[in-house]
Amino acid sequence: MNTDPAPYRGRFAPSPTGPLHFGSLLAAFGSWLLARQAGGEWLVRIEDLDPPREIAGAAAQQLRALTGFGLVPDGPVVRQSARHGLYRTALDRLLASGHAFECHCSRADLVGEGGIHRACVAGAQRSDPAIRLRIGDGTRVGFDDLVQGRFSQDVGRQAGDVILRRSDGLWAYQLAVVVDDADQGVTDVVRGGDLLDSTPRQIHLQRLLGLPTPRYAHLPLVLDEDGRKLSKSAAALPVDPGDPLPALRTAWRALGQPSAKVADAGSIDALLRAAVERFEPARIPRHAIPLAALHNADVISGV
Ligand code: GLU
Repeated sequence: MNTDPAPYRGRFAPSPTGPLHFGSLLAAFGSWLLARQAGGEWLVRIEDLDPPREIAGAAAQQLRALTGFGLVPDGPVVRQSARHGLYRTALDRLLASGHAFECHCSRADLVGEGGIHRACVAGAQRSDPAIRLRIGDGTRVGFDDLVQGRFSQDVGRQAGDVILRRSDGLWAYQLAVVVDDADQGVTDVVRGGDLLDSTPRQIHLQRLLGLPTPRYAHLPLVLDEDGRKLSKSAAALPVDPGDPLPALRTAWRALGQPSAKVADAGSIDALLRAAVERFEPARIPRHAIPLAALHNADVISGV
């Protein structure tokens, strides 16, 4: 009998909404480092399920940038836009088991409920209903995050009945990410801390679909000078894959690692090799880091 634990498989899953910025480089580098250190594989998945938010050419640009940083996936890059059949199958199962339901509520209908859906309050039937996941009262889901520690949430109160397919027919991220991570055999999800809050609903969905729950690590967010998440900010300047070492060194510091440990590396290969060898996951800071704090100084971890 094979008693080996599942091999490590990590992934980086950017949405093609712009060029790779420092926050996404941090998620890419952090997930790559943890995978490499575990002797595991690292995949890249393009999350292109929302054409209105997509920027033409962004996915190709992100992939070129990753190559420039030496972060090369171990298998073919998959695109969510080519995987609608998988989401349809999962949705049909949830509809058949009674966990998913058609919903005619509009955003305006839910304003009085703080935007959270607990019961249908729609005034009128619409021709294009959304599909939601019914979350029962008292659905509390907790998990142990490698970086953030124990995190637990009352999913009904804090997320409500989660959208699975929007009224415009687009698949919701929450369904697609769960289906894809399981289909691709991902054992370890390492991503930005802004998704910590989404994880309990994703775990709940995994359980309803009979899918395994991966391990999670949510990395610190990097904030601009106004305290906003980088991707939402004008400071989300693209990182320069033509001059990769400075950005990789900054990402290394943002992961709480002492700069001295990669100081002597003069090429990408040397830096990545030293980084895999010397990376100490226990040093990754939990809390958001202002970008300005990263310019020269090491980040004090354990805060
Ligand atoms: N596509 C998401 C983003 O770019 C990340 C999803 C994930 O890592 O689960 O924010």
